[in-house]
Amino acid sequence: MSFTLAIVGRPNVGKSTLFNRLVGKRLALVDDQPGVTRDLREGEARLGDLRFTVIDTAGLEEATDESLQGRMRKLTERAVGMADACLFLIDARAGVLPADEIFAEILRRKSAHVILAANKAEGAASDAGVLECYALGLGDPVRISAEHGEGMGDLYAALAPLV
Ligand code: GDP
Ligand code: MG
Repeated sequence: MSFTLAIVGRPNVGKSTLFNRLVGKRLALVDDQPGVTRDLREGEARLGDLRFTVIDTAGLEEATDESLQGRMRKLTERAVGMADACLFLIDARAGVLPADEIFAEILRRKSAHVILAANKAEGAASDAGVLECYALGLGDPVRISAEHGEGMGDLYAALAPLV
């Protein structure tokens, strides 16, 4: 059984950018469950010599009748249930927002292993946001830039003991 990592976090923090970087062209196994293909994408990730399954929680960007917060909760809890560990992304440029606190609370309750990552951390504009992450009670953040491929060595170091 492959190790499974769920990438979770509010819309726009860079989950899909990181998913695409980890999975590249080895795209998405598709789950048969209705709704799952739209909301959760699954792929085979490579990071150095690590091989694992990665889940991208998508589907929050589309407008429906249900509240964003309700869908965030449901989707995140589903992803957490499928995963051995969660990679919780924060947008270090935006800092920690109330929506991020909701995820932090779900993860503190539901997930055995949480790796906190401060994304968009290229450049000094992200320093304040990185510091805010320490208050989430989920350990030290790993600084990454999914878009620029920075911090992947630190992400490797955080994942290697688990995978
Ligand atoms: P998702 O909604 O969490 O899946 O976020 P996306 O992956 O769609 O990214 C949202 C936006 O953030 C896009 O415009 C990305 O190009 C941008 N983005 C993602 N990663 C980074 C990063 O490391 N640095 C910067 N500056 N922008 C990023
Ligand atoms: Mg996305």
